[in-house]
Amino acid sequence: MKMFESIIEQIKDIQKIVFVTGAGISQESGIPTFRGKDGLWRNYNAMELATIDAFYKNPKLVWEWYNERRRNIFAAQPNLGHKAITELEKYAEVTILTQNIDGLHQKAGSTEVLELHGSIVKIKCSVCDFKDEIITEFLLFGLGNHYHKTFGKEL
Ligand SMILES: [Zn+2]
Repeated sequence: MKMFESIIEQIKDIQKIVFVTGAGISQESGIPTFRGKDGLWRNYNAMELATIDAFYKNPKLVWEWYNERRRNIFAAQPNLGHKAITELEKYAEVTILTQNIDGLHQKAGSTEVLELHGSIVKIKCSVCDFKDEIITEFLLFGLGNHYHKTFGKEL
């Protein structure tokens, strides 16, 4: 790959590379950026849904939004951008600081990924210490009466 040969020549003496990534790198994988033209979901402003206030106001709506995002993310594959960063691990120590919650850097094989905004897979109850990782659609997560229901299993 000619591109890598050029980059390798430029970074041959570099031992560590830090990437800072955001929504742009995952857009080609079909993950909406939720800014600009992708900013609406069912006529709601996606940026306003991604707040704790939106969750307290309408937890069912926010969970539906996150479930739909999870379905999209689970179906998505890393693109050439993710893979190129992973490839650089052959030549230098690579750390990725990402704003993305989609796990596509890890899916591409990157080994040191720091998720600045958390993960759409990992959840923690805002009332108790309940934690879980969602690997399929999450069924229900309460707030008013404080209940959890994951994968059809009452907790
Ligand atoms: Zn709880």
